Amino acid sequence: MDENSVTRRQFLTAASAGAIASVASGAIPAYGKAGKKAGKLAILGGQPVRTKSWPSWPIWDRSAEESILSVLRSGNWYRGRGTKVSEFEQAYAKLMGTRRCLATASGTTALLVALHILGIDAGDEVIVSPYTFIATYNVLFLSKVLPVFADTDPETFQINPDKIEERINENTKAIMPVHILGLPANMDRINAIAQKHNLLVIEDACQAWLAEWKGKKCGTLGDLGCFSFQNSKHLPAGEGGAIVGNDEEIMDRCYSFHNCGRPYGKVKRTSSYPVRGSNRRMQEFQAVILMSQMKRLEKDTQTRGENAHYLTSKIKDIPGIMPHKLYEGVTRAAYHLYPFRYKKEHFNNIPRSKLLAALGAEGIPCSGGYGPQNKDGLVEDALNSKGYKRLYSEARLKRYRRDNHYPDNDQLCQEAVWLSQRLLLTTKKDMDDIANAILKIYENRGKLA
Ligand SMILES: *Cc1c(COP(=O)(O)O)cnc(C)c1O
Repeated sequence: MDENSVTRRQFLTAASAGAIASVASGAIPAYGKAGKKAGKLAILGGQPVRTKSWPSWPIWDRSAEESILSVLRSGNWYRGRGTKVSEFEQAYAKLMGTRRCLATASGTTALLVALHILGIDAGDEVIVSPYTFIATYNVLFLSKVLPVFADTDPETFQINPDKIEERINENTKAIMPVHILGLPANMDRINAIAQKHNLLVIEDACQAWLAEWKGKKCGTLGDLGCFSFQNSKHLPAGEGGAIVGNDEEIMDRCYSFHNCGRPYGKVKRTSSYPVRGSNRRMQEFQAVILMSQMKRLEKDTQTRGENAHYLTSKIKDIPGIMPHKLYEGVTRAAYHLYPFRYKKEHFNNIPRSKLLAALGAEGIPCSGGYGPQNKDGLVEDALNSKGYKRLYSEARLKRYRRDNHYPDNDQLCQEAVWLSQRLLLTTKKDMDDIANAILKIYENRGKLA
C-alpha cells in the first residue's frame, strides 16, 4: 500500500466486518466521530483517543485471601511442613503435560538449578538470544559460563536459528532458547541444531506460560524448561518459579539440589548430604496464590491471544507499523507483551521516543522494550572479574569481545514498541482504541516533526 494513500476511511474499510459494525453503531473512537478538531494530537493539546483506564495487574479474588490465611494459621509456612507446594507442582506438571515439576523461589533460581544439574559449568559456553530479560544473562554469568549470543530475528523478536550454528565451538554445551515476550522461538530448528551438535536445550519459558509449539507447551520441548511466577507474570505469586521435565532422575537431582543437597528419590541415601546443594525452595504462601491464579490462566491466555490477533489485523496496513510475526510452528502465543516494529521513515522521521510519548498521551501506555544489553556494563563487568580472568584465556576473551556485535538486535532495540499484556485483557473495542491512536498519529505525522 502506498503510504500516502491510507486514509482513515480506507483503513476501516479494510478492517473486519465486526469493526465496521461497531463504527456504524458509533461504538468506536471518539476522535473519529468528533471530526477535525478532536483530530488534534493529545500530545499537542488535543483530546486523547482514550481516557478510560486499562486493567491493573495482578488480579485476584477471595479464594486467594482465604487460602493465604489458612496457611498462616497452620504455621506450616515451609514446604517441608506443608503440602501446598507439592500440590502446586502436581497441578503445574499436569497443565504442562510433563511427568514432573519442581517449584522454586523464582525464575532465576529455576534457571540456576537447571544449569547446575545439567552439568553446565565454569568455562562452558551457552548460546542464547541477546533480546531477553537480563536474568537470562545473569544466570549464565553466575554459573561462570560465557553467554554466546546469536543475533535476533527482527520479524519474530526471537533468536535467529540461521545465526546459531556459526556460534558453536568445542566449548559449547547448550542452547538456551528464550520464548521472549511469550512468543515461541523456532523450536524445530533449535532442537535439530542441538541434536546435530550434541547440545543440551534449556528453555527459558519465563514469559511463556501455555504458549505452544506444534501443540506442545513451551518449556516442555527441550531437556528442561524454566518458568517465572514473579509479580508481573501471567501466573504471579510475588516471586516464584518452576522447572518442568520428563526425566525422573534429573528431576530428583533438581529437587535434591534445591533442598540443600539432601537425598531425594533416586539421589543416593548413603549420607545426609550426598551432593552439593542450595536453598531454592518455594514457600507455601506462594503455592496457594499460584493455585488460585492458575484458575484464570487459561481464560486470560485466550483473551490475550484473541485480542492480539485482532489488533494485528487492525494495524498491519498502517505504513511503518510492522506487527511481529509468529513462526509457522506456533500453535499458541502467550503474549506477555504485544510487540511491533516502528519504521520512522513512514512517519515523517518522528523518532520512536516521540511516537511512544504521543501514544502515551492518547491514553495508550507503551514502551520501547529492551535496549542492546550486550553493550551494557554487565558483560564487561563479568569479563573483567577475577574469576573470569582466571577461567578464560586472554585470547578467548578477546575473541569474545570482537564477536559481541549483533546488528539485527541493535536495530530491533531501536524500532520495537511494546504493549503490556494488561492491555490485551480487554475487548476488541479497546483494541480499536490502540489502532485508532496509532492511525491518528500517522495521519498527523507532519505536525510532530
Ligand atoms: C522474569 C524472567 C526471568 C526471571 O524470573 P524471576 O522470577 O524474576 O527471577 C528470566 N527470564 C525471563 C525471560 C524473564 O522474563
